Amino acid sequence: MNSNRKITTIINDESLDPTLRQIASKVFDDERITEAEGLLLYEKGSLSFVGTLANYIRERKHGNNTYFNRNFHVEPTNVCIYTCNFCSYSRLIKKRSEGWEYTMDEMLDIVKKYDGQPVTEVHIVGGVLPQYDVEFYSNLFKSIKAHRPDLHIKALTPVEYHYIFKMAKIGYAEGMKLMKESGLDSIPGGGAEIFHPEIREQIAKDKCNGDQWLAIHEEWHKLGQRSNATMLYGHIEEYKHRIHHMEQLRQLQDRTGGFQTFIPLKFRNKGNDMSHVAESTTIEDLRNYAIGRIYLDNFDHVKAYWPMISRETAQMALAFGVDDVDGTIDDTTKIYTMAGSEEQNPAMSTRELVHLIRSIGRKPIERDTLYNVVEDYTDHVFEEDEVFKGYVSLPVVGS
Ligand code: SF4
Repeated sequence: MNSNRKITTIINDESLDPTLRQIASKVFDDERITEAEGLLLYEKGSLSFVGTLANYIRERKHGNNTYFNRNFHVEPTNVCIYTCNFCSYSRLIKKRSEGWEYTMDEMLDIVKKYDGQPVTEVHIVGGVLPQYDVEFYSNLFKSIKAHRPDLHIKALTPVEYHYIFKMAKIGYAEGMKLMKESGLDSIPGGGAEIFHPEIREQIAKDKCNGDQWLAIHEEWHKLGQRSNATMLYGHIEEYKHRIHHMEQLRQLQDRTGGFQTFIPLKFRNKGNDMSHVAESTTIEDLRNYAIGRIYLDNFDHVKAYWPMISRETAQMALAFGVDDVDGTIDDTTKIYTMAGSEEQNPAMSTRELVHLIRSIGRKPIERDTLYNVVEDYTDHVFEEDEVFKGYVSLPVVGS
Protein backbone atom coordinates (compact mmCIF):
# COMPACT_ATOMS: atom_id res chain seq x y z
CA MET A 1 0.00 0.00 0.00
CA ASN A 2 1.48 3.38 -0.90
CA SER A 3 1.81 6.16 1.69
CA ASN A 4 -1.19 8.04 0.28
CA ARG A 5 -3.55 5.09 0.69
CA LYS A 6 -2.19 4.25 4.13
CA ILE A 7 -2.92 7.71 5.53
CA THR A 8 -6.38 7.74 3.92
CA THR A 9 -7.12 4.41 5.62
CA ILE A 10 -6.18 5.95 8.97
CA ILE A 11 -8.33 9.02 8.40
CA ASN A 12 -11.32 6.78 7.66
CA ASP A 13 -10.74 4.34 10.53
CA GLU A 14 -13.60 4.98 12.94
CA SER A 15 -12.09 2.76 15.61
CA LEU A 16 -9.26 5.26 16.07
CA ASP A 17 -9.21 8.10 18.63
CA PRO A 18 -10.98 11.04 16.87
CA THR A 19 -8.24 13.49 17.85
CA LEU A 20 -5.59 11.27 16.28
CA ARG A 21 -7.71 11.01 13.12
CA GLN A 22 -7.97 14.80 13.09
CA ILE A 23 -4.17 15.06 13.26
CA ALA A 24 -3.93 12.62 10.36
CA SER A 25 -6.34 14.81 8.35
CA LYS A 26 -4.23 17.87 9.08
CA VAL A 27 -1.09 16.10 7.92
CA PHE A 28 -2.88 14.95 4.76
CA ASP A 29 -4.00 18.55 4.09
CA ASP A 30 -0.48 19.89 4.78
CA GLU A 31 -1.65 21.84 7.83
CA ARG A 32 0.47 22.54 10.89
CA ILE A 33 -0.29 20.63 14.10
CA THR A 34 -0.46 22.43 17.46
CA GLU A 35 1.73 21.90 20.53
CA ALA A 36 -1.13 20.03 22.24
CA GLU A 37 -1.49 17.76 19.21
CA GLY A 38 2.26 17.14 19.19
CA LEU A 39 2.08 16.10 22.83
CA LEU A 40 -0.84 13.82 22.07
CA LEU A 41 1.21 12.08 19.40
CA TYR A 42 3.91 11.33 21.98
CA GLU A 43 1.35 10.16 24.54
CA LYS A 44 -1.04 8.19 22.36
CA GLY A 45 0.41 7.74 18.89
CA SER A 46 1.41 4.15 18.20
CA LEU A 47 4.58 3.46 16.21
CA SER A 48 2.57 2.46 13.16
CA PHE A 49 0.32 5.54 13.41
CA VAL A 50 3.09 8.15 13.68
CA GLY A 51 5.19 6.19 11.20
CA THR A 52 2.43 6.30 8.57
CA LEU A 53 2.03 10.07 8.96
CA ALA A 54 5.77 10.73 8.95
CA ASN A 55 6.40 8.53 5.94
CA TYR A 56 3.61 10.29 4.07
CA ILE A 57 5.29 13.67 4.73
CA ARG A 58 8.72 12.30 3.89
CA GLU A 59 7.53 10.92 0.56
CA ARG A 60 5.54 14.07 -0.24
CA LYS A 61 8.68 16.15 0.26
CA HIS A 62 11.33 13.84 -1.18
CA GLY A 63 9.76 10.77 -2.76
CA ASN A 64 12.22 7.92 -2.34
CA ASN A 65 15.29 10.19 -2.37
CA THR A 66 17.59 9.46 0.53
CA TYR A 67 20.54 11.74 1.04
CA PHE A 68 24.08 11.20 2.24
CA ASN A 69 27.32 13.08 1.87
CA ARG A 70 31.03 12.36 1.86
CA ASN A 71 32.57 14.05 4.83
CA PHE A 72 35.12 13.74 7.60
CA HIS A 73 35.34 15.21 11.09
CA VAL A 74 38.04 17.19 12.84
CA GLU A 75 37.64 17.18 16.63
CA PRO A 76 40.09 19.79 17.97
CA THR A 77 40.04 18.36 21.51
CA ASN A 78 38.21 15.84 23.66
CA VAL A 79 38.72 17.91 26.81
CA CYS A 80 36.19 20.54 27.82
CA ILE A 81 35.83 23.17 30.50
CA TYR A 82 32.09 22.58 30.71
CA THR A 83 30.39 19.88 32.75
CA CYS A 84 27.49 18.51 30.74
CA ASN A 85 26.45 15.39 32.62
CA PHE A 86 25.62 13.38 29.50
CA CYS A 87 29.01 13.99 27.87
CA SER A 88 32.07 11.79 28.12
CA TYR A 89 34.41 14.64 27.16
CA SER A 90 34.03 16.86 30.22
CA ARG A 91 35.31 14.19 32.60
CA LEU A 92 38.73 14.40 31.03
CA ILE A 93 39.48 17.93 32.25
CA LYS A 94 40.63 16.40 35.56
CA LYS A 95 43.15 14.19 33.74
CA ARG A 96 43.82 16.44 30.79
CA SER A 97 47.07 14.72 29.80
CA GLU A 98 45.05 11.67 28.71
CA GLY A 99 43.08 13.67 26.14
CA TRP A 100 44.12 15.27 22.87
CA GLU A 101 44.45 18.97 22.06
CA TYR A 102 45.35 19.41 18.41
CA THR A 103 47.44 22.32 17.23
CA MET A 104 46.49 24.27 14.11
CA ASP A 105 49.08 22.31 12.10
CA GLU A 106 47.75 18.97 13.34
CA MET A 107 44.23 19.92 12.28
CA LEU A 108 45.46 21.05 8.87
CA ASP A 109 47.31 17.74 8.51
CA ILE A 110 43.99 15.91 9.01
CA VAL A 111 42.43 18.06 6.28
CA LYS A 112 45.39 17.39 3.96
CA LYS A 113 44.97 13.63 4.41
CA TYR A 114 41.87 13.99 2.22
CA ASP A 115 43.65 15.78 -0.63
CA GLY A 116 42.52 14.27 -3.92
CA GLN A 117 39.61 12.44 -2.30
CA PRO A 118 36.05 13.33 -3.29
CA VAL A 119 34.90 14.57 0.13
CA THR A 120 32.77 17.71 0.07
CA GLU A 121 32.62 18.68 3.75
CA VAL A 122 34.76 18.99 6.86
CA HIS A 123 32.75 18.92 10.11
CA ILE A 124 34.66 20.58 12.96
CA VAL A 125 33.39 20.29 16.53
CA GLY A 126 34.80 19.25 19.89
CA GLY A 127 35.36 20.41 23.46
CA VAL A 128 35.79 23.99 24.65
CA LEU A 129 39.21 25.17 25.83
CA PRO A 130 40.61 28.72 26.16
CA GLN A 131 43.38 28.31 23.57
CA TYR A 132 40.75 27.79 20.88
CA ASP A 133 39.58 31.39 20.65
CA VAL A 134 38.15 33.64 17.94
CA GLU A 135 41.56 34.27 16.42
CA PHE A 136 42.45 30.57 16.40
CA TYR A 137 39.26 29.50 14.63
CA SER A 138 39.34 32.44 12.26
CA ASN A 139 42.88 31.47 11.20
CA LEU A 140 41.94 27.78 10.99
CA PHE A 141 39.03 28.49 8.63
CA LYS A 142 41.17 30.80 6.50
CA SER A 143 43.95 28.19 6.28
CA ILE A 144 41.55 25.41 5.26
CA LYS A 145 40.04 27.64 2.55
CA ALA A 146 43.52 28.65 1.34
CA HIS A 147 44.42 24.97 1.02
CA ARG A 148 41.14 23.67 -0.42
CA PRO A 149 38.66 26.41 -1.35
CA ASP A 150 35.92 23.99 -2.46
CA LEU A 151 35.75 22.12 0.87
CA HIS A 152 32.61 23.17 2.78
CA ILE A 153 33.46 24.14 6.37
CA LYS A 154 30.66 23.16 8.75
CA ALA A 155 32.02 24.12 12.12
CA LEU A 156 31.41 24.79 15.80
CA THR A 157 28.15 25.17 17.64
CA PRO A 158 26.72 28.09 19.63
CA VAL A 159 28.42 26.51 22.65
CA GLU A 160 31.83 27.43 21.22
CA TYR A 161 30.65 30.66 19.59
CA HIS A 162 29.07 31.98 22.79
CA TYR A 163 32.28 31.23 24.68
CA ILE A 164 34.78 32.65 22.18
CA PHE A 165 32.75 35.79 21.47
CA LYS A 166 32.39 36.42 25.19
CA MET A 167 36.15 36.06 25.66
CA ALA A 168 36.75 38.43 22.73
CA LYS A 169 34.09 40.84 24.07
CA ILE A 170 32.18 40.92 20.79
CA GLY A 171 28.47 40.44 20.13
CA TYR A 172 26.89 37.51 18.28
CA ALA A 173 26.17 39.51 15.10
CA GLU A 174 29.72 40.83 14.83
CA GLY A 175 31.19 37.45 15.72
CA MET A 176 29.21 35.48 13.16
CA LYS A 177 30.05 38.03 10.46
CA LEU A 178 33.73 37.58 11.28
CA MET A 179 33.40 33.78 11.07
CA LYS A 180 31.69 34.07 7.70
CA GLU A 181 34.46 36.32 6.40
CA SER A 182 37.02 33.78 7.66
CA GLY A 183 35.49 30.98 5.56
CA LEU A 184 32.81 29.36 7.71
CA ASP A 185 30.11 27.96 5.42
CA SER A 186 27.52 26.52 7.81
CA ILE A 187 26.84 25.61 11.43
CA PRO A 188 26.12 22.05 12.57
CA GLY A 189 23.18 21.39 14.87
CA GLY A 190 24.95 20.43 18.09
CA GLY A 191 24.77 21.96 21.56
CA ALA A 192 20.99 22.32 21.48
CA GLU A 193 20.34 19.39 23.88
CA ILE A 194 16.99 20.33 25.46
CA PHE A 195 16.24 24.04 25.57
CA HIS A 196 13.82 24.04 28.48
CA PRO A 197 15.64 25.44 31.56
CA GLU A 198 14.02 22.84 33.85
CA ILE A 199 16.06 20.16 32.07
CA ARG A 200 18.99 22.14 30.69
CA GLU A 201 20.03 23.26 34.17
CA GLN A 202 20.24 19.64 35.25
CA ILE A 203 22.17 18.25 32.29
CA ALA A 204 24.13 21.20 30.83
CA LYS A 205 24.04 23.98 33.37
CA ASP A 206 27.15 25.99 32.53
CA LYS A 207 27.22 26.37 28.76
CA CYS A 208 25.08 28.65 26.61
CA ASN A 209 21.39 28.46 27.38
CA GLY A 210 18.58 27.72 24.95
CA ASP A 211 17.87 31.37 24.11
CA GLN A 212 21.55 32.00 23.40
CA TRP A 213 21.74 28.91 21.17
CA LEU A 214 18.77 30.15 19.17
CA ALA A 215 20.06 33.75 19.02
CA ILE A 216 23.38 32.66 17.49
CA HIS A 217 21.63 30.62 14.80
CA GLU A 218 19.33 33.57 14.14
CA GLU A 219 22.30 35.91 13.58
CA TRP A 220 23.86 33.34 11.26
CA HIS A 221 20.62 32.98 9.30
CA LYS A 222 20.37 36.77 8.98
CA LEU A 223 23.63 36.62 7.04
CA GLY A 224 21.83 34.40 4.52
CA GLN A 225 23.57 31.28 5.81
CA ARG A 226 22.28 27.80 6.68
CA SER A 227 22.51 25.61 9.76
CA ASN A 228 21.10 22.44 11.35
CA ALA A 229 19.39 21.72 14.67
CA THR A 230 19.57 18.78 17.06
CA MET A 231 17.61 17.58 20.09
CA LEU A 232 19.17 15.28 22.67
CA TYR A 233 16.33 13.04 23.83
CA GLY A 234 15.68 9.98 25.93
CA HIS A 235 17.21 10.95 29.29
CA ILE A 236 15.41 12.89 32.04
CA GLU A 237 13.24 15.07 29.84
CA GLU A 238 9.49 14.57 29.47
CA TYR A 239 7.52 14.69 26.24
CA LYS A 240 6.43 18.27 26.98
CA HIS A 241 10.10 19.33 26.97
CA ARG A 242 10.63 17.77 23.54
CA ILE A 243 7.60 19.64 22.20
CA HIS A 244 8.83 22.89 23.78
CA HIS A 245 12.22 22.33 22.14
CA MET A 246 10.77 21.68 18.70
CA GLU A 247 8.37 24.62 19.05
CA GLN A 248 11.33 27.00 19.62
CA LEU A 249 12.95 25.62 16.47
CA ARG A 250 9.75 25.88 14.46
CA GLN A 251 9.25 29.51 15.49
CA LEU A 252 12.81 30.49 14.59
CA GLN A 253 12.48 28.69 11.28
CA ASP A 254 9.29 30.67 10.56
CA ARG A 255 11.28 33.88 11.08
CA THR A 256 14.43 33.00 9.12
CA GLY A 257 14.05 29.81 7.05
CA GLY A 258 17.74 29.14 7.73
CA PHE A 259 17.52 25.61 9.12
CA GLN A 260 18.02 22.73 6.74
CA THR A 261 17.84 19.59 8.85
CA PHE A 262 16.51 18.38 12.17
CA ILE A 263 18.68 15.71 13.81
CA PRO A 264 17.31 13.91 16.88
CA LEU A 265 20.24 12.62 18.96
CA LYS A 266 19.71 9.61 21.18
CA PHE A 267 21.15 9.91 24.69
CA ARG A 268 23.82 7.25 25.29
CA ASN A 269 24.78 6.37 28.85
CA LYS A 270 28.34 5.01 28.77
CA GLY A 271 31.29 6.86 30.28
CA ASN A 272 29.38 9.86 31.55
CA ASP A 273 27.72 11.12 34.72
CA MET A 274 24.29 9.88 33.69
CA SER A 275 25.12 6.20 33.40
CA HIS A 276 22.29 5.39 35.80
CA VAL A 277 19.71 6.71 33.30
CA ALA A 278 18.33 4.01 31.02
CA GLU A 279 18.53 4.55 27.27
CA SER A 280 15.45 4.80 25.08
CA THR A 281 14.23 1.76 23.17
CA THR A 282 14.48 1.45 19.40
CA ILE A 283 10.69 1.79 19.19
CA GLU A 284 10.86 5.08 21.08
CA ASP A 285 13.71 6.22 18.80
CA LEU A 286 11.60 5.55 15.72
CA ARG A 287 8.55 7.24 17.24
CA ASN A 288 10.67 10.25 18.03
CA TYR A 289 11.98 10.55 14.46
CA ALA A 290 8.44 10.29 13.19
CA ILE A 291 6.98 12.90 15.54
CA GLY A 292 9.90 15.24 14.75
CA ARG A 293 9.05 14.89 11.05
CA ILE A 294 5.37 15.61 11.69
CA TYR A 295 5.91 18.54 14.07
CA LEU A 296 8.62 20.41 12.16
CA ASP A 297 6.59 21.07 9.04
CA ASN A 298 8.91 23.92 8.01
CA PHE A 299 12.12 21.84 8.07
CA ASP A 300 13.08 20.25 4.76
CA HIS A 301 15.02 17.31 6.14
CA VAL A 302 15.21 14.92 9.10
CA LYS A 303 18.46 13.06 9.58
CA ALA A 304 19.34 9.83 11.38
CA TYR A 305 22.92 10.00 12.52
CA TRP A 306 23.88 6.37 11.84
CA PRO A 307 27.06 6.13 13.99
CA MET A 308 24.95 6.74 17.07
CA ILE A 309 21.96 4.50 16.51
CA SER A 310 23.51 1.74 14.35
CA ARG A 311 23.19 1.14 10.64
CA GLU A 312 20.13 -1.09 11.05
CA THR A 313 18.13 1.45 13.06
CA ALA A 314 19.14 4.20 10.63
CA GLN A 315 17.82 2.01 7.85
CA MET A 316 14.50 1.49 9.69
CA ALA A 317 14.28 5.24 10.39
CA LEU A 318 14.04 5.78 6.63
CA ALA A 319 10.46 4.50 6.92
CA PHE A 320 9.70 6.84 9.85
CA GLY A 321 10.21 10.30 8.35
CA VAL A 322 13.98 10.30 7.92
CA ASP A 323 15.40 11.19 4.49
CA ASP A 324 19.09 11.66 5.33
CA VAL A 325 21.66 9.33 6.90
CA ASP A 326 24.60 11.76 7.23
CA GLY A 327 27.91 10.80 5.71
CA THR A 328 30.74 8.37 5.22
CA ILE A 329 32.58 9.96 8.22
CA ASP A 330 35.69 7.77 7.82
CA ASP A 331 36.22 6.94 11.49
CA THR A 332 36.98 10.56 12.38
CA THR A 333 34.53 11.13 15.22
CA LYS A 334 34.82 9.95 18.80
CA ILE A 335 31.98 11.99 20.29
CA TYR A 336 29.43 9.18 20.31
CA THR A 337 31.78 6.21 20.42
CA MET A 338 33.02 7.49 23.79
CA ALA A 339 29.43 7.59 25.04
CA GLY A 340 28.81 3.95 24.10
CA SER A 341 27.17 4.20 20.70
CA GLU A 342 26.72 1.17 18.48
CA GLU A 343 29.48 2.02 16.02
CA GLN A 344 32.85 1.97 17.74
CA ASN A 345 34.71 2.68 14.48
CA PRO A 346 32.29 4.75 12.46
CA ALA A 347 33.23 4.61 8.81
CA MET A 348 31.20 3.52 5.81
CA SER A 349 32.36 3.47 2.23
CA THR A 350 30.16 5.16 -0.34
CA ARG A 351 29.33 1.68 -1.65
CA GLU A 352 28.18 0.51 1.80
CA LEU A 353 26.01 3.59 2.30
CA VAL A 354 24.49 3.20 -1.15
CA HIS A 355 23.72 -0.48 -0.50
CA LEU A 356 22.20 0.36 2.89
CA ILE A 357 19.78 2.76 1.20
CA ARG A 358 19.12 0.71 -1.94
CA SER A 359 18.41 -2.50 -0.05
CA ILE A 360 15.18 -1.02 1.35
CA GLY A 361 14.02 0.34 -1.98
CA ARG A 362 15.04 3.97 -1.56
CA LYS A 363 17.10 6.10 -3.96
CA PRO A 364 20.61 6.96 -2.71
CA ILE A 365 21.51 10.55 -3.56
CA GLU A 366 24.90 11.96 -2.71
CA ARG A 367 24.42 15.59 -1.71
CA ASP A 368 26.71 18.40 -0.71
CA THR A 369 26.17 20.15 2.62
CA LEU A 370 23.52 22.45 1.13
CA TYR A 371 21.61 19.54 -0.47
CA ASN A 372 22.72 20.19 -4.01
CA VAL A 373 22.78 16.82 -5.78
CA VAL A 374 26.33 15.58 -6.36
CA GLU A 375 25.37 12.18 -7.83
CA ASP A 376 22.31 9.97 -8.08
CA TYR A 377 23.48 6.44 -7.20
CA THR A 378 20.23 4.66 -8.00
CA ASP A 379 21.67 2.71 -10.92
CA HIS A 380 25.35 3.15 -10.15
CA VAL A 381 27.42 -0.03 -10.47
CA PHE A 382 30.48 -0.18 -8.24
CA GLU A 383 33.64 -1.85 -9.47
CA GLU A 384 33.62 -4.23 -6.48
CA ASP A 385 30.14 -5.41 -7.45
CA GLU A 386 31.34 -6.16 -10.97
CA VAL A 387 34.13 -8.33 -9.53
CA PHE A 388 31.63 -10.07 -7.31
CA LYS A 389 29.39 -10.87 -10.30
CA GLY A 390 32.35 -12.67 -11.88
CA TYR A 391 32.63 -14.98 -8.88
CA VAL A 392 28.99 -16.03 -8.82
CA SER A 393 29.09 -16.95 -12.49
CA LEU A 394 31.79 -19.64 -11.94
CA PRO A 395 29.57 -22.55 -10.79
CA VAL A 396 27.40 -22.08 -13.87
CA VAL A 397 30.46 -22.63 -16.10
CA GLY A 398 31.22 -25.90 -14.27
CA SER A 399 27.73 -27.31 -14.41
S1 SF4 B 1 28.62 18.43 25.51
FE1 SF4 B 1 30.03 19.89 24.59
S2 SF4 B 1 30.06 21.61 26.00
FE2 SF4 B 1 29.23 19.87 27.12
S3 SF4 B 1 31.01 18.96 28.14
FE3 SF4 B 1 30.69 17.88 26.19
S4 SF4 B 1 32.04 18.90 24.76
FE4 SF4 B 1 31.78 20.27 26.52
